[in-house]
Amino acid sequence: MSIDFIGNENIRSKLRALADAERLHPCLLFEGPAGIGKGTTALWLAKVVNCDADEQVRPCGVCWSCRQIEKGQHPDILQIQPDETKATRVISVKQSRELIGQLALQPFHARRRFVIIDPADVMTPEAANALLKTFEDPPKATSFILVTSASASLLSTVRSRSQRIRFAPVEASSLQAWLEASGVADAAVLANLAEGCPGRARTLELDGADKWRAARDQLLDVLGADTAAQFKFAETMCRGDRSKWQAKVDTLLDATSCLLRDALSVSAGGSILYNTDRAEVIHVWAETLGPRGVAGLVQVVADTRDRLHRYVNGRLVLDTFISRFVQLLDKEHLHASI
Ligand SMILES: [Zn+2]
Repeated sequence: MSIDFIGNENIRSKLRALADAERLHPCLLFEGPAGIGKGTTALWLAKVVNCDADEQVRPCGVCWSCRQIEKGQHPDILQIQPDETKATRVISVKQSRELIGQLALQPFHARRRFVIIDPADVMTPEAANALLKTFEDPPKATSFILVTSASASLLSTVRSRSQRIRFAPVEASSLQAWLEASGVADAAVLANLAEGCPGRARTLELDGADKWRAARDQLLDVLGADTAAQFKFAETMCRGDRSKWQAKVDTLLDATSCLLRDALSVSAGGSILYNTDRAEVIHVWAETLGPRGVAGLVQVVADTRDRLHRYVNGRLVLDTFISRFVQLLDKEHLHASI
């Protein structure tokens, strides 16, 4: 087992077989939650196909092609990401047109050129429409890989032109073994927190378990505070551009999911797995809200993740998150119990 990869081996072996037979679909659509390995697999496929080593050892990781792809500098592996000049997080029609212009040129070096659009669901309808014909019939020796964790947001005309490949969450036990093999402390906790997504486990590992505990306590504090303090919280949390606050907000949401998972477990007669030090609040939530009420809060977290992915203004999204959460707790007069 490669130390860089875990899970979805079946997908990679299928892709490898198709690539070897030169039968790759011109437009692949990689679907699945963030951090599950879609982007990593896209780059892996580009390496496998373009590696200069013998077939059995591809990707070798050391040839020119593998190294350039790893560094993000291969001239024929085009990675399209949201337009940095735009206020909203989109892949614009201008980017589509530039790409079409680039694809009119011959590849520089690659056996097969790859265009990786990540995340594909932020393409504006105009950007997607401009590329429809190219998705269907790309230039010679060119493949598209569309990467998304929100497939439903793609135009149906894009989906219908693609071969959909769904990535499945990795079993917590395998994830734990993988983390342990990499020498990670707290592997059991992180494997459960990561919800089957190796990428998320890695991020959590870098952050450290203490960080999500701090984020969790901060959330509980703010839920019990007054409205002014709640507004202030979102404002302080999301200061500056996305690169400054994204990781913090992700940790906050991960910590919230984790609390809710414990509450769900308790409401179903199970025990607390992660937040044993905050047992009191979990019992109150579980007993008063019941499984349906807790599921409502889980939905608020899911909506928030989705909106964060879409909107640039993190503060507004976080404001809405806190106020919806408080509203659901207030309905059961739980606000005061925190
Ligand atoms: Zn290589």
